[in-house]
Amino acid sequence: MLGELAHIGRDPATNGYVRDAWSAADLELREWFAGEAERRGLGLREDRNGNLWAWWGDPSRTPGVVTGSHLDSVRQGGAFDGPLGVVSAFLALDRLREQGFEPGRPLGVACFTDEEGARFGVPCMGSRLLTGVLDPERARGLTDDDGRTLEEVLASAGRKPYLLGRDDETLAHVGTFVELHVEQGRGLVELGSAVGVASAIWPHGRWRFDFRGQANHAGTTRLEDRVDPMLAFADKVLAAREAAVRHGVVATFGKVRVSPNNANAIPGLVSGWLDARGPGEDAVRALVAELGAGEEVGEESWTPVVDFEAGLRDRVAGAAGGVPVLATGAGHDAGILASAGVPSAMVFVRNPTGVSHSPAEHAEEDDCAAGVEALARVLEDLCC
Ligand SMILES: [Zn+2]
Repeated sequence: MLGELAHIGRDPATNGYVRDAWSAADLELREWFAGEAERRGLGLREDRNGNLWAWWGDPSRTPGVVTGSHLDSVRQGGAFDGPLGVVSAFLALDRLREQGFEPGRPLGVACFTDEEGARFGVPCMGSRLLTGVLDPERARGLTDDDGRTLEEVLASAGRKPYLLGRDDETLAHVGTFVELHVEQGRGLVELGSAVGVASAIWPHGRWRFDFRGQANHAGTTRLEDRVDPMLAFADKVLAAREAAVRHGVVATFGKVRVSPNNANAIPGLVSGWLDARGPGEDAVRALVAELGAGEEVGEESWTPVVDFEAGLRDRVAGAAGGVPVLATGAGHDAGILASAGVPSAMVFVRNPTGVSHSPAEHAEEDDCAAGVEALARVLEDLCC
């Protein structure tokens, strides 16, 4: 099934994926999802925020057990982050049916919209809107690199942007959510296990730093006459690294926008995006406060620590075959749902190199199969 998706949104120059929300690639992936739901006779719904739900059974009577992930990617991402969870969800459902399992509760497969935030800057957009964590007015006004608002993009994709926002009807369908995901680190390699279960998601956020200067000619402007914001930005990048070590967190400037972005011009404006995460909220907040002192900084997203509910976590780890439990620094829709009070858990599949958000991201076929089997056993247990 991953092979069926392999060509969609792939950059032939790098083999990396570019699957921005609501792009042609994303629309094709949504079509694929709808086709998989239809082939299995599942009831397909797209909610007000663009999340897709494929149901075995009717969740309007009894809240169901939902599994799934996302199909969008970071720019130049890998093949597994997101799609592995969606594909495994369909395959786990197939396995349960082959074994003659009759679920006592509805079973759903979900695909969340714009998990990565590659286009509009806010990760987990679909689940944040669904749970009301993200203000729909703010969401509609977010712009992509071409200056198009989410509102315009949704309208041209035939959606109804005025419907965005907390969706209690859809939320009421979700009794429990389990997201399977490729691990984005080497925890399971060190533990020697193909599969694991999440204990917690580190608190994390994104901040935009704007450094203003004076655009001018790179040849004729004397050094002492320059107001060059690239220097301030460069200082900040080094300071972030130094502060991260001191606070025991991770901090990254991975995206930068330079205006006018000419090789022969001193920039007039440099915007850099800081991603900061760590085991403790106080340390992450302290780092951002320190780096942001006296600067023009906007918080684009913030997700507090998510401690997955211990009872469900242990039940999932047990049903999956007594697999290990570990924390992660990566954000996920399961974390957003958990914070909104939906009992949620995560199953991780081993990543041999730990590399993620890169074309080199990988999971071995045997480990993926072990993930499907573990997910099937978890769903069987939760749907009883
Ligand atoms: Zn993901």
